Amino acid sequence: MIKVEIVNCLKDNFSYIIHNNNEAIVIDPSESKPIDQLLEELKLKLKYILNTHHHFDHVDGNSGLKEKYNCKIIGFEDDSKRIPGIDICLKNEEIFNEKNFKFKVYHTPGHTLGHICYHFFEEKKLFTGDTLFSLSCGRLFEGTYEDMYKSLSLIKTFDKDTLIYFGHEYTLSNSKFCINYDPDNENLKKKILEIRKNIKAGIPTTPSVLKDELECNIFLKAENIETFAKLRDLKDNF
Ligand code: ZN
Ligand code: FE
Repeated sequence: MIKVEIVNCLKDNFSYIIHNNNEAIVIDPSESKPIDQLLEELKLKLKYILNTHHHFDHVDGNSGLKEKYNCKIIGFEDDSKRIPGIDICLKNEEIFNEKNFKFKVYHTPGHTLGHICYHFFEEKKLFTGDTLFSLSCGRLFEGTYEDMYKSLSLIKTFDKDTLIYFGHEYTLSNSKFCINYDPDNENLKKKILEIRKNIKAGIPTTPSVLKDELECNIFLKAENIETFAKLRDLKDNF
């Protein structure tokens, strides 16, 4: 059974260490130092780095960790030229199956054209990078509204008890946007209380349960591309 450790990186990034039988995967190492420290502390052998996309705040730890642990770097085939140190290119819907780790890749363009999510399907854990955040979604740097809408629609089809592990601690400010445009949402009000309590106590808001996101995340509640596009524009200027 895999275990997940949350690693706070840079100002508001989340990297993740997934481990099983003393072997580890790192998802989106923003920087190598805090990750290396925790790997040492837990006495883990780093086998793989998984990148959701090529932005510096998700890949900058690649080379330092690869140098030390001689791990393999995994990313999307279309981004093979943009992911530093990539060794293994995976395709959309490809399953990676190894003794300690099993996951499936989903192409989720929008934030970038080559963004992917990693689904550890046996444990129902989905690593969404900058595609889906708690109470928001990633900014559209490269993709179209339609790209992102489709990517989010795909995530909406996952089991409701799926745990969403996202790339940034933006949840509190995202919640202000959601409640502003969805003021009567009682589930959202409850979730905001929880978020405030956690942040006050220094507890990360990741992971979030998909069921909560379906009920509270205004971008997942958008019923068509037009509504989604309008919300995305409003959020960019909020
Ligand atoms: Zn990004
Ligand atoms: Fe990011």
